[in-house]
Amino acid sequence: MRKKCTCGDMMTMKLRTVIYSGKVEIDNVPIFSCTSCSRSEVIPEVKPDLTGLIAKLGADPHKGSFLFNECNEWADLLVEAKANKQQPEAHEVEALIEQRVNMLLDLYLLAQSLNDEAWIADINKRLNQISRRTLHT
Ligand SMILES: [Zn+2]
Repeated sequence: MRKKCTCGDMMTMKLRTVIYSGKVEIDNVPIFSCTSCSRSEVIPEVKPDLTGLIAKLGADPHKGSFLFNECNEWADLLVEAKANKQQPEAHEVEALIEQRVNMLLDLYLLAQSLNDEAWIADINKRLNQISRRTLHT
């Protein structure tokens, strides 16, 4: 997965630790970064959840660390993609998305048949996160 940087070079996808307020470490945040001009940005698909997590931590958070991929489906998928290959191509990520969506839909049916409201809500959230796609190849 790559993105064109404002300097004209290509940005590559990385998983980075974001330190919030100097106290909270958020691991496995997917970002695009440029080796030419060192610009980096959080990938747009995960921004709402990262913003949400930071808002929840508040202005004076307790010291601690989080695995971002445990609360965001996109980050989780990219951690999986990078475990297979250091710099996964967009079509490989697309294939993983399709697999993940199918798996979530299967789980959704199962959760529904068990009338497990909390589980249904969780799967709904994960499906929403993953359907936020603005990927460009
Ligand atoms: Zn650049």
